[in-house]
Amino acid sequence: MQLQFVGCGDAFGSGGRYNTCFHVTGNSVNFLIDCGASSLPALKRLDIARNEIDLVLITHFHGDHFAGLPFLLLDAQFGRRSRPLVIAGPEGIETRLPQVMEVMFEHSSRTKPKFELSIVTLHPEQPRRLGEVNVTPYPVVHGESGGPFLGYRIEAEERVIAYSADTEWTEALIPLGRDADLFIAEAYNYDKIVKNHLSLSTLEAHLSEIGPKRLILTHMSDDMLGRLDSLRHMTASDGMVVEL
Ligand SMILES: [Zn+2]
Ligand SMILES: [Zn+2]
Repeated sequence: MQLQFVGCGDAFGSGGRYNTCFHVTGNSVNFLIDCGASSLPALKRLDIARNEIDLVLITHFHGDHFAGLPFLLLDAQFGRRSRPLVIAGPEGIETRLPQVMEVMFEHSSRTKPKFELSIVTLHPEQPRRLGEVNVTPYPVVHGESGGPFLGYRIEAEERVIAYSADTEWTEALIPLGRDADLFIAEAYNYDKIVKNHLSLSTLEAHLSEIGPKRLILTHMSDDMLGRLDSLRHMTASDGMVVEL
């Protein structure tokens, strides 16, 4: 199995990075984690076959994680997709998705896709099997609007991928990431503590409790991007591939 960072940027495109979107492929799985506004061009730039993606997991409804879906769905419609697609995310996704589609492309939510489209609601700490992917959502802490906010512990092909999503420090990150083969964690700032986001210094203080086999930092602001050369941790970059 492999994970490719299609986009690992923050909401502001810091460093010219695309919005959050990770692509996981293996013998039996092909899915995306988040689909931010710029994800369709980012997927095309990497020549990723969109119509082979079976599942999109959405962590929350901020545009840099969610607003790529209308583009992805329109691309599927015009790209003659026939394969079923599952989109899973926090409570409210079944109303948020048509809303964002209508804002971006009027009437698009009322056009029936030529492929089977299923929208699945995920609930905190209720594991769910979606095809060959087992996902356990954890509640994370990321402000008042754009939620509910979920981080994911994903099991597939005997590997565990954990993703913090956007969050300030919460104890939920411990079971979410514990012993994971790959823990992708937000590191928005280096040591400045802000509400709703995680700084690297806070993450480091808890890292031994989480104990991931591999850690990769993502969703970095200019503060972090200016320090890439001096960091002790692996950092994501757009297009980077991780073998699992
Ligand atoms: Zn974000
Ligand atoms: Zn966010």
